[in-house]
Amino acid sequence: MVKERAKIDLTKFCDKQNPCTRDPFSKGKWTYATDGRICIRVPRLTDIPENKKAPNCEQIFKKADENSPYEWVAVPEMTVETVICFDCKGSGKWRDIDDTNHPCEECDGEGKVQEIKAVKIPLGDLTIALSNVYLDLIRKELSNPQIGLIKEAEESHPSMPVKIRFDGGEGLLMPIKISGGVL
Ligand SMILES: [Zn+2]
Repeated sequence: MVKERAKIDLTKFCDKQNPCTRDPFSKGKWTYATDGRICIRVPRLTDIPENKKAPNCEQIFKKADENSPYEWVAVPEMTVETVICFDCKGSGKWRDIDDTNHPCEECDGEGKVQEIKAVKIPLGDLTIALSNVYLDLIRKELSNPQIGLIKEAEESHPSMPVKIRFDGGEGLLMPIKISGGVL
């Protein structure tokens, strides 16, 4: 008996603030969701249309595949703390020049945001730094996720994303760059 798998909520990987990547989109054999730092793709879903303004993610996946080998590891468990939003100082609003209030875009009007911390994952002699918020998202939203480490994602000069694989699709995640101890 084949176990029914819960459908992935691709909108969790989209960027609500960006009209080009606000919704998932289809291209070629795949349906994509991206916010510019993470990109997830699943075999093309017939109900998701193409978007001419969407970025060319296919090319980035192709490049990542040419840069193997990847070393596959489990996604580490981590905690994500919530902190006061720096942009609105916790009010959830920003005041326009005409004195009208708008919901803060940084925190969606919540006044709080998830605190970003680097999770350092060793790859031989190297260290790869990934965002705790994205690793938590991957663990929560994807089934059996693994991270594919590559030396080009090394923390001081990350030039390539790490890969993600999960039941029913794959993805890419840009590392956090750490220089002088500052994120
Ligand atoms: Zn805010």
